Amino acid sequence: MSSGHPTYLWWNGRQVRWEEATVHVTELGWSTVGAVFEGIRAYWNEEAGEAYVFRLREHLERLSRSMKLVRLEQKHSIDELTAAILQLLRDNDCREDTYINPVAYRGAGPRSFSGFSSDSQMFIATRPMPSHLLTGKTVKARVSSWRRISDDVMPPRVKNISNYRNSQLASMEAALDGYDVAILLNTQGKVAEGPGACLMLVRDGKLITPDLTSSILESITRDALIQLARDELGLVVEERTVDRTELYIADEVFLCGTAAEITPIVEIDHYQVGEGTIGPITRRLEQLFHDVLRGKDPRRAEWRTPVGLAQLARA
Ligand code: PMP
Repeated sequence: MSSGHPTYLWWNGRQVRWEEATVHVTELGWSTVGAVFEGIRAYWNEEAGEAYVFRLREHLERLSRSMKLVRLEQKHSIDELTAAILQLLRDNDCREDTYINPVAYRGAGPRSFSGFSSDSQMFIATRPMPSHLLTGKTVKARVSSWRRISDDVMPPRVKNISNYRNSQLASMEAALDGYDVAILLNTQGKVAEGPGACLMLVRDGKLITPDLTSSILESITRDALIQLARDELGLVVEERTVDRTELYIADEVFLCGTAAEITPIVEIDHYQVGEGTIGPITRRLEQLFHDVLRGKDPRRAEWRTPVGLAQLARA
């Protein structure tokens, strides 16, 4: 890290210095309309002197699906991108919780609505992002007056940057109205997700979450928490359509995602959720998730890719 940014980023197949990664101002705007991206986290483990990337392969596989859906040519294999990300984290000396952000976009060239330019480009940047797990953070939410985009308009199942215009409108409305976050319903009026996170609730000891056809992103955290809840905590998990009013009578509600991790919601539209504090099932899941992410719990080792910082320190 120097002057508030990392030393390197990865751009179109090679590592370049931060200052050298520039594009012309006329690229602003259109180039990002068709862009897709990933948000990936690496968690630092102080005792091991190592950082672990969470479910790296699954994130790169989703990036590949996102690129396929928006018809961006894939010039780099998952193995190449894996190696590039681990190298970047080592060379940027990421000995802290870090956010890894690959973005695939269309470069300059002749443009039309159908093709823009055939030039598929990609960069990968890193930045510090401290975890807020186990800090006691809670939020208050409103159900947005904006509906979540639907599969027949702009598919929410992939991480297209344009999808986040919808997220931004809902987030701005929530902030202006004095709430921390928005919850979006889909065009059927059923619960979809937050602007940048999926949603789970607890009723009578069961974990419930909108299914993958409810206009939500195919979230990797959601999938991880379903597995942990079922296999490690022995909970019944229901993936199904969720009514708005279930939010108001739920015992516990939380958002989940790479950035959101687990974010407990304690009030929705002025209805107190449960006791108005972090609920017991959310707490258990949060502790387990935290320990697995940081490699403090040996379970699910296949979800953690070591960056190689410990080896570097020993060399
Ligand atoms: N929904 C949206 C709209 C998101 O942006 C995110 C964050 N990527 C999520 C859900 C959670 O997905 P993941 O667990 O893969 O980060």
